[in-house]
Amino acid sequence: MPATPAWPPKSLPRLFVRTALGEGGRVELEPAQANYFGNVLRLGEGAEVLLFDGVSGEWLARIAEAGKKRMALSVERRTREAERVPDVWLAFAPVKRAQTDWLVEKATELGAAKLLPVITQRTIVERVKLERLEVIAIEAAEQCGRTVLPEIAEPVALVAFLKGNERTLYFADESGGEAAATAFKPGAATILIGPEGGFTPDERAAIRAAPKAVAISLGPRILRAETAALAALAAYMALAGDWR
Ligand code: SAH
Repeated sequence: MPATPAWPPKSLPRLFVRTALGEGGRVELEPAQANYFGNVLRLGEGAEVLLFDGVSGEWLARIAEAGKKRMALSVERRTREAERVPDVWLAFAPVKRAQTDWLVEKATELGAAKLLPVITQRTIVERVKLERLEVIAIEAAEQCGRTVLPEIAEPVALVAFLKGNERTLYFADESGGEAAATAFKPGAATILIGPEGGFTPDERAAIRAAPKAVAISLGPRILRAETAALAALAAYMALAGDWR
């Protein structure tokens, strides 16, 4: 029997940087990143790492200068072109902080192109810290090998969200809808998930009446909002996204 592979898999450390990358370029790391490479991973001059800037794919770089609090890298060659994730957005009513963090991390791993917090009548958490969500998305992207970050939109009220929507809107409705197994079709899509308390009857009617809305069912059990979001995203990837 083959040995269980070690986890995490052996691969080069991978970091998102805000500097545009190109062959022969030089990148100064931010202090926290320099600390991570130098003091946590104990990497010194000459060590190889992978960098991505969210635009130009992934690059092999080498530590050129390692100081106490700073680090400079020289960019050598492109290792991967920027990948295109499927054109699927996740619209979700923010839940409690820990669950929202988890949702953002996992949705990034699963390959959502954009995350949109939507405020509904029963949404309990009204303040969403976008910067925090961005940090979580960056860490997830570093870990899972994405080369393009998910976009994280400003929170928007459900009514405004519905008005602005031009994409196929898969609305996860625990009261019933088309089975997810047959509903998802390739093409620009948004998956909409309700809050812990569900949508109000008015909201449910407004969503169902929206052009391009498709009510979908995620099975006979009531899922927590964050479970529903990721289950729907996984089903989309398998049936209409890049798992096929
Ligand atoms: N409080 C509600 C449940 C809300 S679950 C109640 O008791 O009825 C939170 C959200 O997850 C829902 O708004 C819906 O979008 C989604 N969801 C949960 N289970 C689902 C299912 N089986 N099918 C479709 N959507 C589901």
